[in-house]
Amino acid sequence: MKSLTEYLTFEVKTRRAFVNITEHVTKLVAKSKIQDGLCLVNAMHITASVFINDNEGGLLHDYEKWLEGLAPHEPTSQYEHNKTGEDNADAHLKRQIMGREIVIAITNGKLDFGPWEEIFYGEFDGKRSKRVLVKIIGE
Ligand code: ZN
Repeated sequence: MKSLTEYLTFEVKTRRAFVNITEHVTKLVAKSKIQDGLCLVNAMHITASVFINDNEGGLLHDYEKWLEGLAPHEPTSQYEHNKTGEDNADAHLKRQIMGREIVIAITNGKLDFGPWEEIFYGEFDGKRSKRVLVKIIGE
């Protein structure tokens, strides 16, 4: 069995953002030279997500609106977690619903996506450096 482990680093300039990371992961699959296997991609921070969906601007806007409706950032005093002195309780909740990781099959050396599937990094408490783990295993 072969494997490749790499860490991607993202530092977004805003509190929240969605970053399309499909190209990054595609390049790592090529680098791994694995033809048949699995690719795990996970956020290494509890206020960020990795998920798969459509690369369509309207949908990304809808996610932002939906997540703010479920767990608004303001007022920060509404959250128990923020009594610790933090202001990111909403970011933990948003991460929970958007997920920690994705796993994609590798078939014939390529990510075996369904139609319109692309990989996103979801940042919910940005303006600092965060890592994403990519682990690829197979033959
Ligand atoms: Zn926190």
